[in-house]
Amino acid sequence: MEKTPKTPDGWKKRLTPEEYRILREKGTERPFTGEYCHTKSPGTYVCAGCGNELFSSETKYDSGSGWPSFWRPLSAESVATEEDDKYGMHRTEVLCRTCGGHLGHVFDDGPQPTGQRYCMNSVALKLVPEEKTRSGDE
Ligand code: FE
Repeated sequence: MEKTPKTPDGWKKRLTPEEYRILREKGTERPFTGEYCHTKSPGTYVCAGCGNELFSSETKYDSGSGWPSFWRPLSAESVATEEDDKYGMHRTEVLCRTCGGHLGHVFDDGPQPTGQRYCMNSVALKLVPEEKTRSGDE
């Protein structure tokens, strides 16, 4: 994907209105409506904004929350976190480390070995199926 847009207009050209609302305006999709809520197929979840690799399907689990949930990001380059005190709650926001897009939040009630629950918006993700990941590496 091309380099990260620098302006809101640049992002609006690249993203759908719903992607823009979630990624650039820190929106949230309604629970149990997202494309990847129940997905179990193997592959790598990349950022819908910039293509940065975020999560492996191997760390995805069914949290029952209504959003795709992972217990660990793919690598140290995948995500960044920021404290979020909006709406009278203290939460930890999760952002794409490459483009700064809003992905969701991380909570401390996940499964072992990390005990973390990365609660993501499907709209902020794109699943690259495993076959494509492999052929892309060749
Ligand atoms: Fe990104």
